[in-house]
Amino acid sequence: MAQPGRRGLQTGLRVLAGVLLLVAAGVVASPFIWAHAFRELPFVHATVALPLLLGLLALWSAGSASPSVGSWPGDRHPAVRLAPAEGTLTKPERRARLVLVVLGALFAGDAAASVVGALLNGTHDAFARWPFVLCTVLGAAAIAVLCGWIALDLRGRLQWVGPLIGVYAVKPFVGLAFLAFADTDRTLPIFGAHVSVVPVQWGWVIVDVAIIVVLPLASRAAWRARYGLGFLGANEYRALIALADVLVAGPDEGVPAQDVAANVETYMRSVRAHRVWVYRVALLAAQLRPLLSGWPVLSQLEPVTRRAFLERHFLFPPSWPPLLKHLTQVVIRVGQQLVFSGYYNDRRTWPAIGYVPFSERGRPATRSPPLKLKVTPAAEVGERLEADVVIVGSGAGGSILAYELAKAGRDVLVLERGSYVQPHEFSENEVDMFGRLYRDGIMQQTADFRFTVLQGECVGGSTTVNNAVCFRPPEHVLDRWNDPRLHDAGLDRGALNASLDAVEAFLRVQPQDRAVPNRSATEYLAGARASGMSPDALAAGVVRANIDGCVGCGYCNIGCAYGHKLSMLDVTLPRAQADFGAGRVRIVADCEVEKLLGRGGRVSGVRARLDGGRAVKVSANDVVVSAGAVGSSYLLLRSGIGRRLPVGRGLCFNMGAPLTADFGRKLDAYDGLQISHAGVPRIDAGYVFELWFNPPVAQALNMPGWFEQHFENMLRYDQMMAVGVLVGTEGNARVRRALTGGADIDYVPTQGDLRTLSRGLQTLGSLLFAAGAERVMLNTWGYDEFRSPDELGRIDALAADPDYISLGTGHPQGGNALSQDPRRGVIGPDFRVHGYDNLAVVDASVFPSSLTVNPQLTTMGLAHYAAQRLA
Ligand SMILES: Cc1cc2nc3c(=O)[nH]c(=O)nc-3n(C[C@H](O)[C@H](O)[C@H](O)COP(=O)(O)OP(=O)(O)OC[C@H]3O[C@@H](n4cnc5c(N)ncnc54)[C@H](O)[C@@H]3O)c2cc1C
Ligand code: SF4
Repeated sequence: MAQPGRRGLQTGLRVLAGVLLLVAAGVVASPFIWAHAFRELPFVHATVALPLLLGLLALWSAGSASPSVGSWPGDRHPAVRLAPAEGTLTKPERRARLVLVVLGALFAGDAAASVVGALLNGTHDAFARWPFVLCTVLGAAAIAVLCGWIALDLRGRLQWVGPLIGVYAVKPFVGLAFLAFADTDRTLPIFGAHVSVVPVQWGWVIVDVAIIVVLPLASRAAWRARYGLGFLGANEYRALIALADVLVAGPDEGVPAQDVAANVETYMRSVRAHRVWVYRVALLAAQLRPLLSGWPVLSQLEPVTRRAFLERHFLFPPSWPPLLKHLTQVVIRVGQQLVFSGYYNDRRTWPAIGYVPFSERGRPATRSPPLKLKVTPAAEVGERLEADVVIVGSGAGGSILAYELAKAGRDVLVLERGSYVQPHEFSENEVDMFGRLYRDGIMQQTADFRFTVLQGECVGGSTTVNNAVCFRPPEHVLDRWNDPRLHDAGLDRGALNASLDAVEAFLRVQPQDRAVPNRSATEYLAGARASGMSPDALAAGVVRANIDGCVGCGYCNIGCAYGHKLSMLDVTLPRAQADFGAGRVRIVADCEVEKLLGRGGRVSGVRARLDGGRAVKVSANDVVVSAGAVGSSYLLLRSGIGRRLPVGRGLCFNMGAPLTADFGRKLDAYDGLQISHAGVPRIDAGYVFELWFNPPVAQALNMPGWFEQHFENMLRYDQMMAVGVLVGTEGNARVRRALTGGADIDYVPTQGDLRTLSRGLQTLGSLLFAAGAERVMLNTWGYDEFRSPDELGRIDALAADPDYISLGTGHPQGGNALSQDPRRGVIGPDFRVHGYDNLAVVDASVFPSSLTVNPQLTTMGLAHYAAQRLA
């Protein structure tokens, strides 16, 4: 017995075959009927081509589509159900149905009128004088049948409106071409009167255009209402369902593709990403890309074909032209990120991968009582504000500076682009937290989308989401910073050391030997010992961090709900208000500074935009930009400040790439302090190791493999551990103003940095094998796993191609380097922008080069040090 979905498809095929036959008959007959009408032949054929094309396209779509079709025999993947069949039609759906019914009636009437008119006027005469009659009948009948057919089962057939619109769009052009080139002196006999063909044709052109406008609007509204869409368009949403259907591939998939897409839609609505449109464009491109290869759109492809298409075009992208390869990779990256977010954030997947959220691990969790923080909501801010010192950004640099300036008696106003998310709002929902706490909801990437740059965007900046690991700046790096032949930073090393001490004491930086460690720490330390790396070669051990009393939930990167991470949000800003008064340390959230105001070496304040679009002008005696390594350069650039200074140049990173190791036995590396251990080579090797494992979504985004490989790897999530290699990169990256608005990060890793990375990865691989790993995987575009230390040599070649290996950072640095020389740096040793006496930059952007070790302590130490000079 045919399945219900198949029956619908078969009926559709029959209807369309009928239409096609009708049209084909017209085409065959037309040359005989119109043999004499040579002048109009091109228009005749164009008009005939319309219904023909319509019929063909519809048939072609039907042949490959599976709207609400069950599994195809032998198909491993259940077909996507594009529409929830159950439930009554929504209002916009009913409206779309009405539009189709009216349209169908209009065209049925047109077809009937054409036949009747021709008969009343004498068939032969009418056909001879007006060869379009038959074409009109055929075209109108085809459209009428299709409209009616779709309207009969709107839920099951709404996707057919797309081809209908696509083909119908040709019609007004044919009409216009007729008016421009055909013989328009003739008249039409209508009810005895002779009407010129021109107004009739114009009338049709206007009707056609109106249909082309109304039909898509009605169809779009119907799709959006059906799926409850607020962010994605119908085509993007369907592309997402189609991608989810094949990218998550394995037995017993826990979440249907439809629900994955619904999860993503909810998530995307909450993200305030400045380039979020890119994700819509990428999904639309994924949907339309098969058309270029002569296939229907992605969601219309049968799953097996869709999978083969993805493998061929996305997994092995065309190597030429390079732009196409690149765009293809962007599309698949975006699709994959979205799908995994929607899938693994759904708790129905967790039992299968062996993940238990902290709230269900049965371990008692102490909670530090939160300190009081007063943040002014955007709604309470007027059109103008005044301040003694305005600080742009509330992260590591901005908050320490705010504290120290307030201590020195200055009144500070901190303007923060991100929202104020209070610690009690932090949840175990990764995707929700990404959207609320991160810049672009963890999707900030370099301009070419090859390199992810994570930054916090909320009160507390990146410190709200970071791992709180503290390293003092390595001495050899500070030597280079101060070297007059290199960066000539002019730092007072003694004063900087005192500042670092002060910050460490203030934030209670301490070795994390009392924290609940990452469960894979035992393997990591055993590996360091067994691989023959003596403590003299590698200092592998517990990290120091501004964390006190960690209960080991493992959620550092989505905010510490327990108050044990002593971040700017938890400690520095509340302490500043407690110690010096909330009137002296004012904080406004959801307030993006767009421009620095002033001229002639002085700034007078800033212009900012509040969430909701309202502008606010802030006057100030001093302005300090602490917007982070990307944001600060961008703000200076868009304010036209420092045109002769190297603003945005020298951007660098601690570039990271993890190795994921499978131990074949339960490790539960997601449990415990997220980064509890690190490894620093004693001699400067250019890299460090950090133990690091994530809750499911973040880990899925870093998990090597495609399709079943990825799925199966995720099924072994609780048997794996990961360690990241961080390489301090050269300063060859740059922040620019993007043509589309916002900041662009230009970056391609140098071969030197990639070689350092490869060395680090190979050393780490040996350590993991020595610890007992059964296999080790590198996160690449393809799939690369190693079964023994002997195979690790392959990494040299794999890491040499930055397009192939997956790279990212949470540690952007530089862009407004500290240097006494304005040709080499943007700010002088007093942290003031060269040429300005009341504008300073204080954050990680002032680093003259990358540190290799984690940068927050250095950022905070420099902020403390800067405050002594700026106060
Ligand atoms: C996931 C993650 C983990 C990390 N782990 C560690 C770690 O364990 N140890 C470590 O040392 N470092 C870590 N870091 C890095 C560290 O947090 C940063 O180096 C540090 O916070 C940088 O401080 P900053 O002041 O330069 O910028 P941020 O702390 O990023 O603060 C900049 C602030 O400015 C705001 N802003 C930007 N533009 C504007 C504007 N135009 N108007 C208003 N506000 C604006 C931003 O929203 C942000 O809140 C991590 C980072 C991430 C993302
Ligand atoms: S693991 Fe991180 S988030 Fe969890 S309690 Fe410890 S510091 Fe806080």
